[in-house]
Amino acid sequence: MSSDSSAKIETVLQEERVFNPSDETINRASIKGFAQYQKMVNSAKSDPQKFWGEAALEGLHWFKPFNTVLDWTDPPFARWFDGGKTNVSYNCLDRHVKQGKGEKIAIIWEGEPGEVRKITYKQLLEQVCRTANALKEIGIKKGDLVALYMPMVPEAAVAMLACARIGAPHSVVFGGFSSEALRDRINDGQAKAIITADGGFRKDKIISLKNAVDSALSGNSCPSVESVLVVKRTSESISFSPGRDYWWHELVPAQSIDCPAEEMDSEDRLFVLYTSGSTGKPKGVVHTTAGYNLWAHMTFQWIFDVREEEIYWCTADVGWITGHSYIVYGPLSNGSTTVMYEGVPRPSNPGAFWDLIERHKINIFYTAPTAIRAFMKSGRDIPDKYNLKSLRLLGTVGEPINPEAWIWYRDVIGGNSCPIVDTWWQTETGGVMISPLPGAIPTKPGSATLPLPGIEAEIVNAEGKSVDVNQGGYLVIKHPWPGMMRTVHGNPQRFRESYWEYLPPINGSLVYFAGDGARRDKDGYFWIMGRVDDVINVSGHRLGTMEIESALVSHNSVAEAAVVGKPDDIKGEAIVAFVTLESGANHNEKLLTDLKVHVSTEIGAIARPDEIRFTNSLPKTRSGKIMRRLLRALAAGEEVKGDTSTLEDRNVLDELRK
Ligand code: ATP
Ligand code: MG
Repeated sequence: MSSDSSAKIETVLQEERVFNPSDETINRASIKGFAQYQKMVNSAKSDPQKFWGEAALEGLHWFKPFNTVLDWTDPPFARWFDGGKTNVSYNCLDRHVKQGKGEKIAIIWEGEPGEVRKITYKQLLEQVCRTANALKEIGIKKGDLVALYMPMVPEAAVAMLACARIGAPHSVVFGGFSSEALRDRINDGQAKAIITADGGFRKDKIISLKNAVDSALSGNSCPSVESVLVVKRTSESISFSPGRDYWWHELVPAQSIDCPAEEMDSEDRLFVLYTSGSTGKPKGVVHTTAGYNLWAHMTFQWIFDVREEEIYWCTADVGWITGHSYIVYGPLSNGSTTVMYEGVPRPSNPGAFWDLIERHKINIFYTAPTAIRAFMKSGRDIPDKYNLKSLRLLGTVGEPINPEAWIWYRDVIGGNSCPIVDTWWQTETGGVMISPLPGAIPTKPGSATLPLPGIEAEIVNAEGKSVDVNQGGYLVIKHPWPGMMRTVHGNPQRFRESYWEYLPPINGSLVYFAGDGARRDKDGYFWIMGRVDDVINVSGHRLGTMEIESALVSHNSVAEAAVVGKPDDIKGEAIVAFVTLESGANHNEKLLTDLKVHVSTEIGAIARPDEIRFTNSLPKTRSGKIMRRLLRALAAGEEVKGDTSTLEDRNVLDELRK
């Protein structure tokens, strides 16, 4: 932590644009206008037990209702809805079928080579029951952990729901991870089975998933694993280990469609999921049944407010928390139609997303700033070729969105009429925490706006004291919420220390610290300023990375920027910016000077980069987040140390070293 005990982060960016919800947006919304939002906030605050208790009874099906809402007698270990019995797969499937929605499409899936599958709620329920029975047949019992290492095929969602149905927690490992990363996660969780595929399609290539599983398991390096269930996807040749490996298409279809959902305790584990690893070694985040289900359910409803006939698409991979909460559990718990897409935009098919929106008439589109910046880089000509009129709401998640990227998204993709929901949250929070509600909260480009009802977020200094308006500090959450992580898998002490004891208690209560720096403006809006680990200390001024990066991105030639500090004898730290340019822009001496001047005029001389390095790409996690930690080492001329297993492309580091 900084030696400056007030540890405030100075703000340099001023963004004044405000977009009010249109009459049309307000009229169709379930939460209409600011007053209604405020009313919800007030009732959640004045009586959280009543607020969440009612929400849980209304939002979920219970085999047996709970006795208590929140038990916070042993902080930071919360218990929500104790005494209750419920099942997430029941909430996502059975109850909709029972209510006559069996013929509604649950999942529209589009495969990378272009095939489309539409699965109704009734069909999905049957597939989930069959898969659940298959898991039982290979010896999986309630409480056993199952690792998933899957391409983006419907079977991934089916497998997650099947695990939930029999009470076997899942641990989804992103299909783009290496066999070493898979092995670490299998061993950390002591997975008893793995569900995978022969291979998957990714950016015009085939990735051999089963081979990677075989190497992860080789030499008895994962002794907990007893069986491997393999979906046939690419039909490449793979090796099969009899007695351990099973084909999905042989085992699953032969099962009965009858598999009653296990009555789970509210606090039974639903899944373990590892964080993206932007700042260090990933942590195994544990989520439990009822609280997580409720949080995914409510936040999906509040933010996306999907109508019965609407089609919703989140472009994440199921390997990330966004895929868990907003491709699978949130949409299905609400009985919505969710799109799953196996492909990603790439040079051979740059308009892939827009093509999908046009063909499936998608109404709600939820993606990441990294994708939006890539689209900006390749120019508006590409999306302009498609009919995107079906869109009604746009969302973003994963990183701070630079105001210029926000404006581009609204203009080019949203035709200047779709509200944008910039949703701030984390693997640890289970679901969105800070976001506009489209019919209630005016938006400002680059701000995630206001906390959802029941979320008591605040900005404090290192002593836990609230900071003034527009002063940067630590983003904290002061009251437990249903979707909060329950522990770090196998390491409760790390859970306590990294999240609840990083900052001192406030008024005697532990507070959750999220790792991010932020400020609030005069309207109480939250502006995420970047990770506190990444804060730069220039001549005693502590600057967040986001504001300097946004100033760079607001220059016509710049597509993407990452800013880090480098040790400097005089200033403490000097500012080094790594910049990628829009296609067609020339990197020359003049642009270098222009960019420095641009930052000075946009936000002030204090933030002027001392050094700018042009590059073709930035190091990112496999979920698309910039890894400033690696750039910091490069800028200082040091060896890149620490965990790099989550790095998307190792070549990027080599390129940057040159
Ligand atoms: P690790 O904790 O292992 O370093 P990670 O924090 O990248 O990995 P995730 O849980 O996937 O893992 O990401 C959560 C983080 O993403 C947040 O703490 C925040 O820094 C960033 N983030 C997510 N959404 C937003 C948003 N809308 N605005 C700003 N930042 C965001
Ligand atoms: Mg994190």
